[in-house]
Amino acid sequence: MMMTDIYAYVKYSDPCLDFVNSKVWNTRIEPFTDLFSGYEDVVHWLRQLNILGDTDVESLLQLAKKDARETQKAFEKIITLRDANYRLFTAIAHQQTPSNKEFEILNHYLQEAMRHRIVTSSTEGIRWTWINKEGSLDWMLWPLALSTAELLTSDRVQRIRECSGCYWLFMDNSRNGMRRWCDMKTCGNRAKAHRHYERAKISKI
Ligand SMILES: [Zn+2]
Repeated sequence: MMMTDIYAYVKYSDPCLDFVNSKVWNTRIEPFTDLFSGYEDVVHWLRQLNILGDTDVESLLQLAKKDARETQKAFEKIITLRDANYRLFTAIAHQQTPSNKEFEILNHYLQEAMRHRIVTSSTEGIRWTWINKEGSLDWMLWPLALSTAELLTSDRVQRIRECSGCYWLFMDNSRNGMRRWCDMKTCGNRAKAHRHYERAKISKI
């Protein structure tokens, strides 16, 4: 898939939800379409989500060129977390209890993340910092696991929805919490047009 196509899918909601939305239900090409066909796709996607900066992208892609086997391993780890998160979030969006297996996967990466999380002080102030990123092809899993854990343990977890149109996950920030579509302009309008079409068909019978 062309990189420009990937960018068109990024919606800028919660990074961990956008990460999961890299696997999309495309109603034209059934069933699921995975926008990640390799490690490079992941890196570019996460740059769009601002989880990676330009220098991160450069160094990760350079590192990836050096060891194809390690890069494939990192890619598989990323897919494992992404798919577990997908199952966690969709279960929650459908008011079901996620399985322990998904939590085990998340906690595995979360523990890895916490080992690399420290507090540092500089002229800019005191900050949380990731350490020992150098030489790691999959350190992006740390902020992703952490943001997933933070979302799951916050009140906002009740606002995770699955779009009735395209099956993307999104955060319902509406006042009444009744939003059904990721985007009213696209999926909402499509659904309305479809209902209008169905009604018109019935009235003709
Ligand atoms: Zn949608």
